[in-house]
Amino acid sequence: MTHTLENRTEALRELLERQFQQHTDQLTELTVHTRQPDHGGHDPDTLRRLIEVAQQGVAATAQALRRMSEGTYGVCDRCGQDIPTARLEILPSARCCVPCQQRG
Ligand SMILES: [Zn+2]
Repeated sequence: MTHTLENRTEALRELLERQFQQHTDQLTELTVHTRQPDHGGHDPDTLRRLIEVAQQGVAATAQALRRMSEGTYGVCDRCGQDIPTARLEILPSARCCVPCQQRG
């Protein structure tokens, strides 16, 4: 399969925009639950954790979209190498490559 870099970025941008929207919708829904007497059926600790995860998702996808507009998307934060497309397709908001991630 041959993707030009531009096509790849375009496909990943759509993916990120969709994920950003999903995280935002989820955050909105969870926030509504916090105001309900039964917390939407969640216990308060679980709800708080779910909100944290959704907030991180919103932040990570927003940052990735910003890196795209700045032209720094897809480059590892730590070693400066290109992050493989296969990794970005799984985790489009990834900030570093797998070896750097594993080094912690
Ligand atoms: Zn790296």
